[in-house]
Amino acid sequence: MEKIYVAVRARRLSPEESQTSPWRISENSIFLANRSAVFEFDRVFGEDCKTFEIFDTRAKDIVASVVRGFNGTVFAYGQTSSGKTYTMTGSASQPGIIPLSVHELFRIIQEKVDREFLVRVSYMEIYNEEINDLLALGHRKLQIHESLERGIYVAGLKEEIVTSPEQVLQLMEFGEFHRHIGETNMNLYSSRSHTIFRMIVESRERSGEGDSINCFDAVRVSVLNLVDLAGSERAVKTGAEGVRLREGSYINKCLMTLGTVIKKLSDGVESQGGHVPYRDSKLTRILQPALGGNANTAMICNITLSQIHVDETKSSLLFASRAL
Ligand code: ADP
Ligand code: MG
Repeated sequence: MEKIYVAVRARRLSPEESQTSPWRISENSIFLANRSAVFEFDRVFGEDCKTFEIFDTRAKDIVASVVRGFNGTVFAYGQTSSGKTYTMTGSASQPGIIPLSVHELFRIIQEKVDREFLVRVSYMEIYNEEINDLLALGHRKLQIHESLERGIYVAGLKEEIVTSPEQVLQLMEFGEFHRHIGETNMNLYSSRSHTIFRMIVESRERSGEGDSINCFDAVRVSVLNLVDLAGSERAVKTGAEGVRLREGSYINKCLMTLGTVIKKLSDGVESQGGHVPYRDSKLTRILQPALGGNANTAMICNITLSQIHVDETKSSLLFASRAL
């Protein structure tokens, strides 16, 4: 497995927030001005960076490797309001990693005239350890299955065949919209669930008419997962009770499992035949084929530089540094 790429992105402070920050950043480090905490990463992106610059440093290569037949995963991690959705989905004027990946994928495919491709898209959310299909109304509480033929898969999850970037982005919007239904407080809700936007790329060599040799050519199938994680803030700290507390403990357990899985992978535990606890959460189980083995993984840790969130930012940076 390639080393997991870990980048940090600091979001712009809003005018209401104090503009004096306790943090200092350089190209690959972030530290408190008093040096009581120092973290190093593959890259640290400051407030002025554009999402396409983040995309260009690693995610772009991951998209290319997916077309070559390797699985890939890009995560956005961070507390609520740190810029995860801004980074992954973005807006028309500042497209996120998802639309940038979609355009790049189709661009590469169109250049590869020697192979024929079939691209499918699925979009799901995990809320309180339940898997819901965002592309099919009413497909809720889906189960994870495993078979020799398909490997690990979410049974009944809709996979839409797509032929253009525009079509994929329409599906993305449909899924986003679908999440909103019945939710009075969208921000709260979205901060409580993980979403996995997935592109499945199938290809085989294009064969000339009557060219029998190519009938035996293997079909390549690979998956790109683009993951917008639930807010990482501690349930206890936000004073949650009842439903909120239950949601919070699911999220904490899930993110803790993700952290452990990533740590074990980066320590080479899997390649030495050791145990990696993928089964401890739905998220890691679903992503298992695209985390271990030959997969390429990148994590973007979204943080805020403001003084009031200094503890939360510190704990996000600690989480991210475990993946290195
Ligand atoms: P999250 O998904 O982590 O909860 P959002 O992506 O919704 O956070 O971001 C919170 C707010 O901050 C949004 O209004 C978003 O537009 C804004 N924002 C986030 N990151 C940036 C950035 N790098 N530059 C400018 N605005 C940003
Ligand atoms: Mg969000």
